[in-house]
Amino acid sequence: MPLVTTTEMFKKAYNGGYAIGAFNVNNMEIVQAITEAARELHSPVILQASAGARKYAQAAYLRHLVEAAVEATDNEIPIALHLDHGADFEVCKDCIDNGFTSVMIDGSSRPYEENIEVSRKVADYAHDNGVVVEAELGTLAGVEDDVNVAAETAQYTDPDQVVDFVNRTGVDSLAIAIGTSHGAYKFKPGTQPHIRLDILAEIVEKLPGFPIVLHGSSSVPQSHVKTINEYGGALQGAIGIPEDQLRDAARSAVCKINIDSDLRLAMTAGVREHLAKHPSHFDPRQYLADGRNNVKALVRDKIINVLGSENKA
Ligand SMILES: [Zn+2]
Repeated sequence: MPLVTTTEMFKKAYNGGYAIGAFNVNNMEIVQAITEAARELHSPVILQASAGARKYAQAAYLRHLVEAAVEATDNEIPIALHLDHGADFEVCKDCIDNGFTSVMIDGSSRPYEENIEVSRKVADYAHDNGVVVEAELGTLAGVEDDVNVAAETAQYTDPDQVVDFVNRTGVDSLAIAIGTSHGAYKFKPGTQPHIRLDILAEIVEKLPGFPIVLHGSSSVPQSHVKTINEYGGALQGAIGIPEDQLRDAARSAVCKINIDSDLRLAMTAGVREHLAKHPSHFDPRQYLADGRNNVKALVRDKIINVLGSENKA
């Protein structure tokens, strides 16, 4: 199958009590690692490109890398290409016009009525072109590319707004803020990391059957943090979302779980360990292969132990 939208994926995920992994892609090795893992486990997968990824790799490279992945996996698994955090109508339109099957319009930092207005405009254009749309209500803390929100200004999604927002925008899925955050430093050391599954439950009650999205859902595996620090890194106090809480969310209405920081940690741990153990190596294929292997193992683990999407392709 060519690239698909997430409509069918989400319907099955909602009814089946699991979630689809949305993994951020920036280069060839990461695309290969994610799609090889998904293929081996017969899992649907979403590859997403942020503004930072588009700036780093250029949209054309990312699109063709993802198209290459579709070909290389022999069309065996559904793959969607998604724009992560589209800042305005123009960037969403550009992606819709250029082969993306799904876009996010992130109006979450705008006033409520403006968020509705821009989300509806994107949804109208996307739907005319067979593309689906994710919007966001509430504000996540943390740093992701150009999105930088201080913890004090972050806001949980108000369950009393969700029905009005979805009805008036016509979007296909909704990203909510319930305590996940962007980056590898999600909680202060010494505090109990937790997300507000009670708010999720309230939202699900108001929007039965509607696909919910969680951003900032890396669990920050301490094994990779340890490896990075052992080989010259300095990641102090990196703490992620507990995986059992993500599993609970996936069993509920959460159909898409975004993972980016964990891929970065896995890649960096692999590269650092390789270079430390083989100081004479200078062929990028040698150390990038170790990074890629780490990313692949991480994605396999997520599919099996967090998302529950194994054998759902
Ligand atoms: Zn995000």
